[in-house]
Amino acid sequence: MSCKAFFFIAALCLPVVIRAQINPPAQPKLIVGIVVDQMRYDFLYRYQSKYGSGGFKRLLSEGFSCENTRYNYIPTYTAPGHAAIYSGTTPAVNGIIGNDWWDAEWRAHRYVTTDKRYNPVGTTNNKAGQHSPSVLLSTTVTDELRLSNNFKSKVVGVCLKDRASILPAGHIPNACYWFDDSSGNWITSSYYPDSMGLPQWVQDFNARRLPEKYLSKPWTIDSTIRYDESFAGWDKYNNGKYGNFPGSLPYNLPELRKSEGLGVIRFTPMGNTLTVDFALETIEKMGLGADEVPDFLCLSFSSTDYCAHQFGIHGEETEDVYLKLDREIARILDFLDKKFGKNNVLVFLTADHGGGETPVHLNDLRIPAGVFEESKLEANLENMLAVQLGAGGDFIHDVSNQQIWLNWEAINDLDMEPEEVAHVAIEYLRMQKGVYDAFTRDEVMSYPIEFPFAAETRRGIHPRRSGDIIFQLDPAWHSDDNLFKSGGATHGSPYAYDTHVPLLWQGWKVPHGVSHTPVNITDIAPTLSAMLHIAEPNGTTGQVIEALMQQK
Ligand SMILES: [Zn+2]
Repeated sequence: MSCKAFFFIAALCLPVVIRAQINPPAQPKLIVGIVVDQMRYDFLYRYQSKYGSGGFKRLLSEGFSCENTRYNYIPTYTAPGHAAIYSGTTPAVNGIIGNDWWDAEWRAHRYVTTDKRYNPVGTTNNKAGQHSPSVLLSTTVTDELRLSNNFKSKVVGVCLKDRASILPAGHIPNACYWFDDSSGNWITSSYYPDSMGLPQWVQDFNARRLPEKYLSKPWTIDSTIRYDESFAGWDKYNNGKYGNFPGSLPYNLPELRKSEGLGVIRFTPMGNTLTVDFALETIEKMGLGADEVPDFLCLSFSSTDYCAHQFGIHGEETEDVYLKLDREIARILDFLDKKFGKNNVLVFLTADHGGGETPVHLNDLRIPAGVFEESKLEANLENMLAVQLGAGGDFIHDVSNQQIWLNWEAINDLDMEPEEVAHVAIEYLRMQKGVYDAFTRDEVMSYPIEFPFAAETRRGIHPRRSGDIIFQLDPAWHSDDNLFKSGGATHGSPYAYDTHVPLLWQGWKVPHGVSHTPVNITDIAPTLSAMLHIAEPNGTTGQVIEALMQQK
């Protein structure tokens, strides 16, 4: 070809090439939803001076940040959080009122996704494997994507925690995997298409025994970094219940593994590394993003949550887990760039709830805070009711999630009115230290909307599932007394530290920008639906995030 002819052809092609690079395709090849368990909004900035350029900072510098994103219901726990992100609605509609609760049909306390109709696949551990999303009463954006195109889109859930893999992936995913502590395997249940056994690629991945490898070395801090954002002398608060972590970093993980088993990886940064290893293998081996039909990977990082529970938000362990997660997010973004190109993948990152301060630490600073002993409330109430009402009985089925389920049959058998029993219990609760207020469910429904957190409380109540009495604690109080009595931290309240979370978008059709307009967590799913031109999840109560739709 002559030089002139080459430049002529090149000149013709160039605008096409440039246009192809600038104009995103009609649909992304892949959507990656990242949930960072217990990531507070301020963690985007607290450790920012030590984040690299390819992780959180890249999402902020290239993408769109909804800085004022809030949970709009209580309780702010993991299962309701993941369900709200993907269903576009709250426990009032999707039915996920906690991680566990009193189940009136089972007449027992239930774990959210437990479903004994199904069997474990990849482990012999029934508790780890007998799960399904049947408890989720509405569809997810991932369900709607599959329904929109005759199931051509592939949907997969990946997370160490079962509930944080199962709920996002919805009712009809192609696969759903979570981690089993007893075998160290990524597993699933017979609810899913892999009902007859793990696919060969998952078996091969499990055979690499990465959990054992990651736990064969100590957990050390990076000696080149000053952990200035964490408090000195924090070790005395570093005694959450999970695991048996003595002292401070570095931790002898081979020794801890001997006493705690492989599940100890959840409490280390390597839990997130293992999750990314498996997620990238999932993209490769399941061919996610391989054609023009959008696929969806629901990815959730649990180790941030386990670490914050165990070490509190001011422990250098928690800082270390975020600095290392930042590198893992960079690894994912880099992988996606190289494999698909920036314009072909839509990424969003948020959290399933925030997290509070360690109460005993706040007390040492003379800031009001405390732990309400919810685990003792049922016995205390039964004793008090027996005295007050003059009849001993089994008045209460269950106390959990700052709710009380009354035993209506037993109360009726005593010729008493449940309302009467409820009000005696409420008067008792109102006298307890740390209780802000207590109400019957009917009272919550009739309170003026201006009443503090009335709307958030209502959005957390499901008519058939929630308790008869709801109580709320003061700011900085929590009621997980069994797990986090003297150290660590937790979440669950309607206060800002539990409800304000990051929401970052990057990639396909995402403009660069930042908005402080209020966004509810339930807005994510309808916004994804609007971007993809598919139906919203069937229980959606959220709104499209208008600022994000000023698309490229
Ligand atoms: Zn969580």
